[in-house]
Amino acid sequence: MDNAPPLPGHDWPIMQPGWVWLCGAGPGDPGLLTLHALNALRQADVVIYDALVQEAILDWAPRAELIYAGKRGGKPSAKQRDISLRLVDLARAGKRVLRLKGGDPFVFGRGGEEAQTLVQHGVPIRIIPGISAGIGGLAYAGIPVTHRDVNQSVTFVTGHDQSGNTPGNLDWASISKGSQVIVIYMGMKHIAQIAGHLIAAGRSLHEPVAVVTTATTQDQHVLETTLGTIVDDIAAAKLEPPAIICVGQSVLMRQVLDWQGMAAGAPARNLDPLGRGRAAESA
Ligand code: SAH
Repeated sequence: MDNAPPLPGHDWPIMQPGWVWLCGAGPGDPGLLTLHALNALRQADVVIYDALVQEAILDWAPRAELIYAGKRGGKPSAKQRDISLRLVDLARAGKRVLRLKGGDPFVFGRGGEEAQTLVQHGVPIRIIPGISAGIGGLAYAGIPVTHRDVNQSVTFVTGHDQSGNTPGNLDWASISKGSQVIVIYMGMKHIAQIAGHLIAAGRSLHEPVAVVTTATTQDQHVLETTLGTIVDDIAAAKLEPPAIICVGQSVLMRQVLDWQGMAAGAPARNLDPLGRGRAAESA
């Protein structure tokens, strides 16, 4: 890897000893990494990475010690506080530390907490955003997270709170009424309750829903279902997390935008899934 091709010409930031860069690794496909992330991987002395970071990406950190900070093999996950303090210790030891997190570090990733702890301990930081699974993962499934005919807003919600319960402080009725498209992270465990909340708040049993597991990786799987049938369909398909769940009419756009299916030779199922009856480009 030492003879890796150089990054394109640009004034790339240099990682200084004693700094921590908090960086998003994107949803999986290594090609979805940013150039800033690649620049960081090439300079880091230590990379502390999470379960959702694809191992192939770590090959791009040739000089770094790799430290795993996620849950694997049934072992309990490293405690958040321990991870944050480990980052502080490594920085104080004069390392160039890259904290690599799945997706975007500031989207349901506790990046804010880690960054805050670092600043509180006087450790200088840089933040490198990443492509979040709730946007990029859906794009790989052929689902536009906004689409003019469908939604003028989108709500990202987490299906867990810190205690592992469905978030009690979420106002599902308001979310149901106010947001045409709802993108749920960490929703698999409590999907029955979440779907129940949405239906109780007035969303149709027939509302389209997509479940995208291990999005953007070789193992990506997309289930198209409805609010009324999602629980049974997830069980029947034996789907496991990580999954992004998208509720709303934009899911129908997959019928024309499933670009991976089309690349594999399947024709578009419906050229006008929203039934607008006009060319998409007309105003
Ligand atoms: N910071 C991350 C989210 C971390 S929370 C981001 O911005 O994407 C972890 C949750 O993210 C998972 O439970 C799942 O809901 C979602 N997720 C992350 N990567 C995913 C992937 N490749 N496919 C599907 N869901 C994913």
